[in-house]
Amino acid sequence: MVYRSDIEALVVGGGLVGCLVARALAAHGLGVVLIERDPELGQRASTAAAGMLSPQMEAAEGLLAESSTRAEAMLAFCLAGRDWYPGLVDSLMRETGLEIEYRTRGTLVVATDSIRAEALATAAAAHAAADLSAEFVDGEQARRLEPALASRTEGGLLLPDDHQVDSVALVGAAARAVVDDPRIRLELNCQVVGIETAAGRVTGVRLERAGGAVDHESASLVVIAAGAWSENVAGLPRRLGVEPVKGQMVAVDGRAAGLTHTVGGAGVYCVPRGDGRVLIGATVERAGFDVSVDEAAIAGLVAAAAEYVPALGRTDRLSAWAGIRPGTSDELPIIGPDPDVEGLVYATGHYRNGILLAPITAAAVAALAGGSALPVDLTPFSPARLRGPRKDPRNG
Ligand SMILES: Cc1cc2nc3c(=O)[nH]c(=O)nc-3n(C[C@H](O)[C@H](O)[C@H](O)COP(=O)(O)OP(=O)(O)OC[C@H]3O[C@@H](n4cnc5c(N)ncnc54)[C@H](O)[C@@H]3O)c2cc1C
Repeated sequence: MVYRSDIEALVVGGGLVGCLVARALAAHGLGVVLIERDPELGQRASTAAAGMLSPQMEAAEGLLAESSTRAEAMLAFCLAGRDWYPGLVDSLMRETGLEIEYRTRGTLVVATDSIRAEALATAAAAHAAADLSAEFVDGEQARRLEPALASRTEGGLLLPDDHQVDSVALVGAAARAVVDDPRIRLELNCQVVGIETAAGRVTGVRLERAGGAVDHESASLVVIAAGAWSENVAGLPRRLGVEPVKGQMVAVDGRAAGLTHTVGGAGVYCVPRGDGRVLIGATVERAGFDVSVDEAAIAGLVAAAAEYVPALGRTDRLSAWAGIRPGTSDELPIIGPDPDVEGLVYATGHYRNGILLAPITAAAVAALAGGSALPVDLTPFSPARLRGPRKDPRNG
């Protein structure tokens, strides 16, 4: 699939994924239109995120801990995605003059019981065998690294290459880069309601502008980067199975804890920021597109964090929020061309790892459009795996 430079590419959705895809397509010489229904770019999942770039923690704890081809493919993709970060942060800071806090102190996954500590020791050995930096530390060593850890800390898994980025600052810089890029035309307050096709090719999209006016944009390349709302675009030839997964988070005054690493525990993580806040996250809720915050969930997060870092249970809560992750039925993102409609490309379904994976996704989409070598094998993430019948679009 190679697109000529005079042909317009249209990106649906201006979250971090859409912004970076637009920027990468423009860098490949395409004229780009980026369409966002909100008045500002990046105000949904991407700014709600904790900003952890932590495939190894996920591999020790979450989906990626499964031993399956699916989990292996995802881990390899996430590890490759992590490598794009220092370059992305540098180039965005240089281009925009904005600061982006990018912390390289690493992640410490901790255990307060011996069974979990043993599991972390096993994970450390597995990571080392796979040539990844990882070290098991005992309780005393863990507390030397992070003195605020609970005295009953039994051990920790130190992951020096699992970094973190301030996602709000990152999205702000990505948005600024898009706004300042003369090769990108930005349409805000504008919702794509459906795609248009003819003879097996995409020809454009139908839009609804603020105030309800209906319009149309032509394009021979349309990239669906609408996050959790991707399923709502009418006319897609397949059911994507993208579904909203709510996450609530709370920021507390973390100065007394003085954390320097991201600290992971069972079902909770604590992410220190340079301004003294610690972000504690996150719930995983199937609650549609609701973004309300509830006291019980926030109190639960703070209590879970305090199990590992007691000072976080005794400090002020500063703010709390919720965001909607784009989940998929197999927990893999959907990236690549639609096999049935030429010119239709997906960049969605990044679930818990969309910050981590946004830059490599953008590079992959631009490589597809430009016919250059892909930075990664996209086969496991191909929309071709989604064969279910199309459901009616939902509201959200
Ligand atoms: C609480 C929480 C914590 C998280 N922590 C992390 C983390 O630590 N690390 C990590 O890697 N990931 C994390 N994630 C996941 C990450 O935030 C998401 O995977 C990522 O932000 C998805 O980016 P996106 O651009 O696809 O979606 P979004 O940021 O949601 O952007 C989609 C955009 O599309 C727009 N849109 C939707 N439909 C239309 C339409 N029809 N027309 C025009 N515009 C449309 C929306 O308004 C929105 O701006 C977290 C998520 C949550 C909620």
